Amino acid sequence: MRSISIFGATGSIGQNTVDLIARDRSRYRVVAVTGGANIARLAQDAIRLNAEIAVTAHADRFEDLRAALSGSGVAVAAGEAALIEAADRPVDWVMSAIVGAAGLAPGFRALRHGGTLALANKESLVTAGPLLLAEARAHGATILPVDSEHSAVFQALAGEDIAAVERIIITASGGGLRDWPVEALARATVADAGAHPNWAMGQRITIDSASMFNKGMELIETREFFGVPPSRIETVIHPQSIIHALVGFNDGALMAHLGAPDMRHAIGYALNWPERRDLPVARLDLAQIATLEFRAPDPRRYPALRIAREVMETRGGAGAVFNAAKEIALDGFVAGRIGFMDMATVVDRTLDAMASQICLTSSMANLEEVLMTDHMARKTAWTQIAKMES
Ligand code: NAD
Ligand code: MG
Repeated sequence: MRSISIFGATGSIGQNTVDLIARDRSRYRVVAVTGGANIARLAQDAIRLNAEIAVTAHADRFEDLRAALSGSGVAVAAGEAALIEAADRPVDWVMSAIVGAAGLAPGFRALRHGGTLALANKESLVTAGPLLLAEARAHGATILPVDSEHSAVFQALAGEDIAAVERIIITASGGGLRDWPVEALARATVADAGAHPNWAMGQRITIDSASMFNKGMELIETREFFGVPPSRIETVIHPQSIIHALVGFNDGALMAHLGAPDMRHAIGYALNWPERRDLPVARLDLAQIATLEFRAPDPRRYPALRIAREVMETRGGAGAVFNAAKEIALDGFVAGRIGFMDMATVVDRTLDAMASQICLTSSMANLEEVLMTDHMARKTAWTQIAKMES
């Protein structure tokens, strides 16, 4: 029986993970499940999975969680330190699906036991890629990508020599505004940007798809995880989201990964790796799909891609600044303080302003430095937003 923990169990990735585990209960011993403010869901899943401990990130919700789990035999804890303690419990497999910078520390901690870290939390690789990979190496741990594109690349690379890879192509749906005239984008509202044609996701990641800041994050993730130089990483718009990524080899072969847009594929692949087992995902009917389209992304429409490329070249602290600035820019957009296209301007200006304060090109020494850079970048990004308003 494999022991597992799920960090961010109550979120979108977390719930898909819970679904897969619950279907195959007898194969797993669930140690920790964690969540945030949704106490009812956390308690319900802890009971359903017979977890050893349930942890809410909110220290002030301890009593609520305790009440919800009283008599269940599930231990209860709350707060940031409790999340780290949960990560200290050794298990064979950990799902890292907390959203944002809060997911970094538990993921790092879990690597200390060796075992496998299924990594959904994008921010870990974007802000601290080299540190995370070094930590995994130091403890003999395995990191498996859970973002669908990176899982697709990982699968296309199975049994291959990375030295024979000529290029990695990450596909992008183009987001909800992909067919709008470029000139109209500046007027796009939160509701316009928050509707996705293919994937059902939260509002923030859906807006990040429309702006392609999400794809920018994924390009950086690709660079960090697979160690391929930026010149060999491309992105192409593929509106159907059927091909998730392609890997091109030096003999001209291009291996594509196709699948229904369902995150349970990437999660299930990481859960069953190195085996493949049945997964409850829809099978593709190619004759019915009939056509797969591709087009090059227009750089005027998606400045986020250019910025991400600059970050891939700079590395060091640039990833942490990029991630923090694009989150604050999104907050500013959602709050109605800046327009849709201004988000890229905020990120550009934050990177410039930060580069004049600290050396962005030097490597991050440790997690504390990453979090400090994140904190500074957030403040700087708000300053840029305020300047743009005045
Ligand atoms: P979500 O918002 O649906 O869920 C996030 C989870 O993190 C919840 O369990 C929440 O309670 C918890 N959480 C939030 N703030 C926290 C904090 N401060 N401390 C501790 N826990 C906290 O997010 P999601 O869509 O499931 O995404 C999770 C991660 O996976 C993100 O990094 C995202 O970019 C990445 N990802 C998501 C998808 C997707 O399809 N949803 C695809 C690829 C990658
Ligand atoms: Mg993705």
